[in-house]
Amino acid sequence: MKRRGFLGALGGCALGGGLAARYLGGALSAQDAIDFAPPQGEKQIGLAPALHYEKQPGLKVVCKLCPRECRVADAERGYCGVRENRGGDYYTLVYGRTCSIHVDPIEKKPFFHVLPGAAALSLATAGCNMECRFCQNWEISQFRPEQVPSVEAPPEGVLNAARQNQVPVIAYTYNEPTVFYEYLLAIARATSARGLRNVVISNGYIQERPLRELAPFLTAYKVDLKAFTERFYAEQCSATLAPVLDTLRTLKSLGLWTEIVVLVIPTLNDDEDSNRAMFRWVMTNLGPDVPLHLGRFHSTYKITNLPDTPVPTLERLHAIAKEEGLNYVYLGNVPGHAAESTYCPQCGTRVIERYGFVVNVMRLKNGHCPTCNLAIPGVWA
Ligand code: SF4
Repeated sequence: MKRRGFLGALGGCALGGGLAARYLGGALSAQDAIDFAPPQGEKQIGLAPALHYEKQPGLKVVCKLCPRECRVADAERGYCGVRENRGGDYYTLVYGRTCSIHVDPIEKKPFFHVLPGAAALSLATAGCNMECRFCQNWEISQFRPEQVPSVEAPPEGVLNAARQNQVPVIAYTYNEPTVFYEYLLAIARATSARGLRNVVISNGYIQERPLRELAPFLTAYKVDLKAFTERFYAEQCSATLAPVLDTLRTLKSLGLWTEIVVLVIPTLNDDEDSNRAMFRWVMTNLGPDVPLHLGRFHSTYKITNLPDTPVPTLERLHAIAKEEGLNYVYLGNVPGHAAESTYCPQCGTRVIERYGFVVNVMRLKNGHCPTCNLAIPGVWA
């Protein structure tokens, strides 16, 4: 089931995968909690002090979390709708509350080179710092916290939920995790210290400083590279491309495992020239071993007039990415296609065989090809 369908089926407040709300209770530990007592009576929001902002004269603040750098007056909110100026102090409104929590296979994120077959406790809040016209999760990403049902889920509660469901990975996903940065950081701190892995599924719209502060608690980062033109970002996402490329370079410098997803939309970003330029940029700046997922578009949100991406279009772009030298290129949303599997770039052995989000055969031996012993990059153990 698509994320949107799942959320819709549960009225926007999703508790699935055997989870129950009682698992999400529990107090913050002194170590992990933000030292703040939220006021009583404000339902549906999780108020806590924001990080990464600057105070300005006249009770204004400038948010330094993402490239938008919203300048926010008293009693106003930033573009993402989940960060508010109260008397010259800045607050997140989504700390400790989730509107969607579910156990997914890690392949659904998608991560294909991170713990294949692992279950990931996946959570989201309201809000986003982009407005993509093709957003699959617009019912939560394009709304404010008060407009989306949510449940209390402090970091210790999320840790308990992961343990009780025997889930080794926490995934921050569905909406843009940057906008719930303080909550994400607290959970990642609490859970990574207890041996869990944390992975972020992001649009890459985050400033370098908060990213570097968060990175030590993470195992992997997935970036949606929406297209390779500023025009597409401006017209389809109300955003800009350059900061996303900066984020990818920062992730490379941090050595944090990164995978890239490109949703290929007919007529909007499926041309060969701009995609070839993108693949060449990835090769030059990130190297040949970054997994690249080319996803098939299905109509949604504000783009309902375009057909599903033809599979031959995806196959042509797949061939171009390989021509440009990328070693691990996948097709997404095409269940059963050969390009869902991982192949050794040296001898061609199919080292991980997948169908959709399911790993059917795992042939890697300690991260190496069983035929030629080439090390396949990723997080395997
Ligand atoms: S995180 Fe939100 S408030 Fe901060 S700059 Fe980005 S859009 Fe604006």
